Amino acid sequence: MDLFRNFKSVTKTCYGRGSFGKLGEILEPHRSANKGFMVFLVDHYFEGKADFIACIPKQAADEIIFCSTAKEPSTKQIDGLRDDILARRGLPAGMVGIGGGNVMDVAKALSLMFTNEGSSVQYQGLNLIKKPGIYHCGVPTISGTGAEVSMTAVLTGPVKKLGLKCDWTVFDQIVLDPDLIASVPRDQWFYTGMDTYIHSVEAITGTKKNTFAEAYSEKALGMCREVFLKRERSDPKSDEFLMVASYMGGLSLTYSEVGVCHALSYGLGKVLELHHCIANCIAFDKLEDVYGDYVQEFKGMVKHLQVNIPQGLAKDWSESTIDAMAEVAYNLPHMWDHAFGPDWQKVLDRERIKGWYRRM
Ligand code: NAD
Ligand code: ZN
Repeated sequence: MDLFRNFKSVTKTCYGRGSFGKLGEILEPHRSANKGFMVFLVDHYFEGKADFIACIPKQAADEIIFCSTAKEPSTKQIDGLRDDILARRGLPAGMVGIGGGNVMDVAKALSLMFTNEGSSVQYQGLNLIKKPGIYHCGVPTISGTGAEVSMTAVLTGPVKKLGLKCDWTVFDQIVLDPDLIASVPRDQWFYTGMDTYIHSVEAITGTKKNTFAEAYSEKALGMCREVFLKRERSDPKSDEFLMVASYMGGLSLTYSEVGVCHALSYGLGKVLELHHCIANCIAFDKLEDVYGDYVQEFKGMVKHLQVNIPQGLAKDWSESTIDAMAEVAYNLPHMWDHAFGPDWQKVLDRERIKGWYRRM
């Protein structure tokens, strides 16, 4: 039987090559709210790239803030940005996040924290946010995480690495322009692209999926095969497929859950500060006993594209590091429940988790 889910989607989606050029027109009706200025959060990669900056529809009162992606978004970063903008300028009309999963999550979280008092730490979790945020628009410049469609903004806090997750997190508008992802370096293109492949595999293989999840997953997996096995990256269709695959892989999770790879990846992220997408690739590579043919297919893509997946990491990890990562992973019961069913504790203990880490 299909599981019952009731979800809010992105309100408006603009897709197509050149759609970034429509951003000014898209923002226009939203400019009069609050103090009447827009904040553009832009991935630091674009700082100094004059041709790109010239395409941002910045008006005199608007602000562009370049965001570093060296670290994943944190509660401290969000609180600091919010306090600074409110103190200097007051409440913006809207936020526009232009970048990858990192910058889009910062834009989503900031939108909410402009209207919800106190620190973002207190809102890490499901439906803890009290009020809708300000207008927020996402413009991905790298594809795979599905952050453009998801209802969460993942933040690292003092205790938890957990999202601000609620209906109001979802973007009011996204602009999907495949031209924007052309400059992503090859390894990063693969790591982030694999996030949508892994989302789709995990969504489709567990117990909490429904038919929507299957439909989105199957389509996203097919498009990943086009991108990473069949076509050259220079083929214009390749970036178009990847951008839509990211969106569909994200939606596959809306109607399902992530599984073993993401649980292990959270451990790698929390303890070693490895970034989400490379951590997923490191973990997925070792999960043949769970994801069988999909891991074979992943390895085939790695070989075909000659991408570097770090190996032999565990030899430098102490037992206490492995213990700490296993503890983070073990404490994600919703992922284990999805991957192995309600009796997951019969097939999974901390030793099995540590065994996977030792193979990395
Ligand atoms: P990212 O945003 O960290 O970007 C990866 C790198 O690519 C960065 O160095 C960035 O500067 C660079 N980059 C971005 N666009 C570029 C371009 N057009 N040309 C050249 N370089 C470019 O990476 P990501 O993999 O997209 O996102 C990872 C983040 O997403 C993590 O913070 C993770 O927690 C989050 N995430 C969120 C969700 C969600 O549902 N909200 C899901 C998965 C991951
Ligand atoms: Zn992911």
